[in-house]
Amino acid sequence: MNDVKQVTKVDVIVVGYGPAGLVLASLLGQQGHQVAVVERWPELYGMPRLTHVDGETARFISLAGDGEQAFREAWDTPHYYWVNGKGQILLDITGENTKKMIWDDHLSVHQPHFEEAIHDRILTLPNVKLFRGYVASEMSQDANTAYLTCVPWDAEKNAVAIDGVPVHLEAPYLVGTDGSKSFVRSSLGIDRIDLGFNRRWLLVDSYPTKPLPPKFDKKGMQYCDPKRPHMHIPIGSTGQRFNFALLDNEKTEDMNTEDAVFRMLKHFHGLGRQDLTLIRYLVYAFECRMAKSWRTGRIFLAGDAAHTTPPYLGQGACAAIRDSSNLAWKFDLVLRGLANESILDTYEPERRPHAFKLLQAARKLGILANLRNPFLAAIRDMVMRFKRPPSPAFPILTDGILARDASGKPMPGAGSLPGQGRLTIDGETKTFDEHIGFHFTLIAKHGVAAGIPAPLRKDLDSIGVRILDLAPRGQAAANGSVVDVDGVYGSLLDEMNADVAIIRPDFVLYGYSDSKGMVALLSDLLKQLRFTRGREVAQRAAA
Ligand SMILES: Cc1cc2nc3c(=O)[nH]c(=O)nc-3n(C[C@H](O)[C@H](O)[C@H](O)COP(=O)(O)OP(=O)(O)OC[C@H]3O[C@@H](n4cnc5c(N)ncnc54)[C@H](O)[C@@H]3O)c2cc1C
Repeated sequence: MNDVKQVTKVDVIVVGYGPAGLVLASLLGQQGHQVAVVERWPELYGMPRLTHVDGETARFISLAGDGEQAFREAWDTPHYYWVNGKGQILLDITGENTKKMIWDDHLSVHQPHFEEAIHDRILTLPNVKLFRGYVASEMSQDANTAYLTCVPWDAEKNAVAIDGVPVHLEAPYLVGTDGSKSFVRSSLGIDRIDLGFNRRWLLVDSYPTKPLPPKFDKKGMQYCDPKRPHMHIPIGSTGQRFNFALLDNEKTEDMNTEDAVFRMLKHFHGLGRQDLTLIRYLVYAFECRMAKSWRTGRIFLAGDAAHTTPPYLGQGACAAIRDSSNLAWKFDLVLRGLANESILDTYEPERRPHAFKLLQAARKLGILANLRNPFLAAIRDMVMRFKRPPSPAFPILTDGILARDASGKPMPGAGSLPGQGRLTIDGETKTFDEHIGFHFTLIAKHGVAAGIPAPLRKDLDSIGVRILDLAPRGQAAANGSVVDVDGVYGSLLDEMNADVAIIRPDFVLYGYSDSKGMVALLSDLLKQLRFTRGREVAQRAAA
């Protein structure tokens, strides 16, 4: 018998091929890194779980896969109304569709489509090895390497396959994107903070077989009815989701039945088997938890493994994909030997507070939606209808790799998310993302970037910084300048009273300055990136 252990060595091991794992594997793979993905199920799940992504997330998805394919049956969600038991409007979560990111601000999506689009892109990358139908079973690490053993999973029996041959993986980094019950997190012994929200809801996904009544048209509705909170929301342009809260005295197993589903549909919407085909139904336990730490040594947590949110804001997967994008560009710089590994220390300080604010907001909304006491519900209705405080602003990054002012705090606006516009470069007009991809960008008023000294320019080139020399407003591009078709980037500079601005690969505004401060701004960026000018590559090669 040959008992020599076969080991596959890669740059990054990704455990879990949900939204977070797909995006991470694709972005790293497209950057040319060796990636191994381990996923329990042999095929993509093929059924919707999330139904909403925001415009920022749509940008990441369309960098990870083909956007047209991903969103082929998506449409905008102009309204997500919250109403009380009498049908009076308390809140509209979506608000005006600004299309700030070019994509709609809120897209109703068919999750299997975007997962398939990213997977198809990954299949074109021979450097991404997929171990699907394997479950991560043992994990360890030492000073230089993370080790993972995976065993085949019998999908039919929903159990570890008997007599399967294990796979052994090694890499300098491992990321657990393995969902809320994360094996990676529990193997690291990391506990979670429970923010104290636990509710059971029956989820029903369906394809209508005939047009549904107008109340379902292109909008989500959250009925904050103390008798039984419930909601409905489209799944892309073809499906329809319904959710019904379980009452305290209702048993999960009694509600996880087709009879219960049609009883609810009949009672609340007058719908029956003649109106729709069921895709699936399931009682979910919504929870609100945050891992106490998102990293131990060479092993990181991302997505639901790090933070699990109730779905009232539709932000769980959006946050998961932000985690992956944040890690992807930092791993890229480290793996190319251009940044010291300590840049990875900025992952959690950047992502944790952002995700935590969304968790808190979703929990607050969840509590309001689930109020069962009629007296408290009446007070909620009064406050929300007549004295509602303005919604808190969407969180921005508040720490990490951001330009600082003299006091060391991020400069005003750094960490925010500028919009996306179209650019004409070499006669071709496309979106910023289509032209630039996943790179740092210096946006500069015409002629200003010529002031970058050659050695600094060489360093910037080595990390892939794209320089956009904006043609003066209303003028055609000349000598390599770029037309800011929608005026988005000129307006950004005007708003910041700046001549240059730096945008990170994850679309975040790093900082800005006037032309005199440009060299200091760029040099400081390199410093914050722990730029090594490739020294680490040489050191590694020597070692
Ligand atoms: C009803 C509902 C509605 C939601 N709606 C929205 C919404 O509209 N918008 C939104 O942004 N979010 C929404 N969410 C949240 C969203 O679904 C999650 O935040 C998102 O799926 C997290 O992605 P992930 O990749 O981190 O984890 P997951 O999607 O959970 O993927 C984890 C993967 O890891 C695999 N895995 C687990 N353990 C192992 C192991 N040991 N070995 C190998 N593989 C393993 C699993 O099979 C799975 O494929 C909703 C959630 C629910 C429950």
